[in-house]
Amino acid sequence: MSLTCKQLPLSDQALLYGNLISRLTDAAVFLIAEDGCILSWNPGVERILGYKEEQWLGESVHIIFTQEDRALGMPETEIATAIRAGQAPDIRLHVRKDGTVFFAEGSLVALRDESGKLLALSKVMRDVTRRKERELALRDALAYTESVVNTVREPLLVLDADFCVRSANRSFYQVFGLTKEGVENQRLYDIADREWDLPELHQLLEEILHEQESVEDFELEHVFPGIGSKIMLLNGRKLLREGTKTTSLLLAFEDITERKRSERELKENERRQAALVAIGDQMRETGDIRSLIESSLEIVVSTLGVSRAGYGTLDAAGENLTIEGDRGDGTVSSIVGSYRVEDYGEGFSGRFKRGEFISISDVRTNPTTARESAHWEALQIRAVINVPLLEHGRLSAMLFLHSSAPRIWTESDMNFVRKAVDRIWSAVERDRALQELKASEEFTRSILASSPDSVSVMDLDGRLVATEQADGKVANPESAGASVSGYWARSWGDSRDEAEAALAAARGGQTARFEAVRSTSNGQPKWWEVVVAPIYDGRAKPVRILSLARDMTQRKSAEQERERLTGDLKRSNEELLQFAHIVAHDLQSPLRGLSGFAELVHRNARERLSQGDRELLEGIVESAKRMGRLVESLLRYAQVGKGDLERARVDMNDVLEAALGSLQVQLEERGAAVIPDSNLPAVMGDSVQLVQLLQNLIGNAVKYARPGVRPEVRVNSVEKDGGYVFSVADNGEGIAVEYQAQIFQPLKRLHGSDIPGTGLGLAVCERIVKRHGGRIWVDSEVNAGSTFYFSLPSVPVT
Ligand code: ADP
Repeated sequence: MSLTCKQLPLSDQALLYGNLISRLTDAAVFLIAEDGCILSWNPGVERILGYKEEQWLGESVHIIFTQEDRALGMPETEIATAIRAGQAPDIRLHVRKDGTVFFAEGSLVALRDESGKLLALSKVMRDVTRRKERELALRDALAYTESVVNTVREPLLVLDADFCVRSANRSFYQVFGLTKEGVENQRLYDIADREWDLPELHQLLEEILHEQESVEDFELEHVFPGIGSKIMLLNGRKLLREGTKTTSLLLAFEDITERKRSERELKENERRQAALVAIGDQMRETGDIRSLIESSLEIVVSTLGVSRAGYGTLDAAGENLTIEGDRGDGTVSSIVGSYRVEDYGEGFSGRFKRGEFISISDVRTNPTTARESAHWEALQIRAVINVPLLEHGRLSAMLFLHSSAPRIWTESDMNFVRKAVDRIWSAVERDRALQELKASEEFTRSILASSPDSVSVMDLDGRLVATEQADGKVANPESAGASVSGYWARSWGDSRDEAEAALAAARGGQTARFEAVRSTSNGQPKWWEVVVAPIYDGRAKPVRILSLARDMTQRKSAEQERERLTGDLKRSNEELLQFAHIVAHDLQSPLRGLSGFAELVHRNARERLSQGDRELLEGIVESAKRMGRLVESLLRYAQVGKGDLERARVDMNDVLEAALGSLQVQLEERGAAVIPDSNLPAVMGDSVQLVQLLQNLIGNAVKYARPGVRPEVRVNSVEKDGGYVFSVADNGEGIAVEYQAQIFQPLKRLHGSDIPGTGLGLAVCERIVKRHGGRIWVDSEVNAGSTFYFSLPSVPVT
């Protein structure tokens, strides 16, 4: 710039400038000499730099430079530049009088006269600290923003109000596989061959620009070229640049494809899981199995979004398939009916017959002939899943899914189908088993109804499976299906504990029985014999409990009657014995008197009596003696049962010796021989009674000898059942078989009065043996001899 002015005279110009400069308070204007000495002052110097005129003039311009600039020779460089180039503009830090620094923008201008001689240098400077600070802050902010934008992982776009891309970050190019050239300054809708020209995007951007300022979490699903199907989450915001009033849009993208996909998968899985549960529930219900299957198929159709689901059975030859039932989504018709397996094509029918799991995504691309695919398509089938049901290794039925459009079956689809089919088939099997069980239970029930026993069958949980009611039988619970075991046990009243124990035993595979009183269905109390037994399945596992109550009232009352009679008999026997004892005892003394007096008369008056009278008198004496013996025997018999038995260790050799002592006269009279075959054992018993026992038996053996045969008696013993059996064998006349049982009865005799006897000897023997806990019996042959046996307990080992 030149200071020359053509219009005004030079003096006026100088005056004008002086005036102007003195008014400039927001700029420091001053002159310096070539050596840097300050030559002039204006009020701006004091305002900006803090120097008064007298402190200022004559100083070196160095004072306003910072230490660093001075060290770098900046004042000199600036002057040199101004001299050389005419002016030296700069923005730098300067120092005030008080030492503080500030940013100044200024220019040093060389002033020359017309000849070009340097007059002075003029400096104009302004405090631009605030502007400078703002600029720096802005620059920092921009750098910061740029680094943020570029480091943000999500793709970002900045668009202008015409939706032209102003800038995009690195991530945007990377994620969408685009280049800067192809994107920047292009309309968003035009980039990548108008691939971004999406109605949803139009709507979103218009909304941000004109209505909402910002939009959050806008989902955009699109097949982007090169990167495939993606789900993007868009966040957009309108940015207004202050001052410039220009509008731009910031658009951030987040790729949520994976997250969304796994969310969808999770949801789909949940839905399928719920469908399986629903099928399970459905199939657990009771009712017609066909309609249960069909409503489960409906669930399959809606869950997998297939066109049709159904089931069919195969004939034994494997040639014909009967579709028993199906359910569709409303777009296809039912195909219930019969079909020839071979019509489905060789490949399919072969695999089908082998019982393979088959999935076909498109029947057209599956190797089939035109005729075969026409067969499929006539049934509106393009894609298939076929699940076989094998029974004993043979295909017997199948469940299928059809899609009228080609469909790629996923692993999850097939898993779902397998699980659904498992549930359906197991219900079918259960239903079949149940039908069989019902039939067999029906059969059992009809048999049971004709049995006189009261029967009920429970399962192991105590639920009633079968029962029958009839008058005169036990009133069984009727509520089939309910748990009745508790009720059943209680119904046995006082025998409840036994009933419960029997149930527990049956559950464990044991049969138990008990007796109890309970009323019949018509209220009549009866005695029952109850048998509780397990019923087994084919694998010998208890599955049911059978309870069988048999009316034993009659048997029980007969038993009770017998017990009562036996008791009565025992009592009257005892009373009789007591009476016999008293009578025998009381008879003894008059009898002794009678026989004494008769003998006295016989002795004193024998001579005076006629022969006839004498014989009569002798008869009286003899009868009295016999009666005396009878009374004595009777007493002895009655005696045996009285009082407690004296039990001690008794040596039977001693017993035999004592018995033989008492029989001595008799034995000698008959010339009898008594031979103990072995050394006899010791027993537990009453020695007096045991002597009596042997004495009676040996006495009889001698008494009933055969005429003309010398009596021989053998006494022996053998060990048996922890005790001993003794025998007394004779060679006498023997006893006919028909009398052998009778001879032990009191007063029973087989002989007349020719052989003296009372008929009580063997009765006494039997009582003695019985009291010792043993038994007596005879084995005999007429004209050969008799052997009397008796058993006695041995001495316990101490
Ligand atoms: P008693 O000998 O007093 O008649 P028992 O009670 O001892 O009474 O015997 C009953 C009957 O059994 C006898 O009358 C006799 O006929 C028959 N008897 C007993 N022992 C023998 C025997 N060893 N041999 C043949 N008969 C016998």
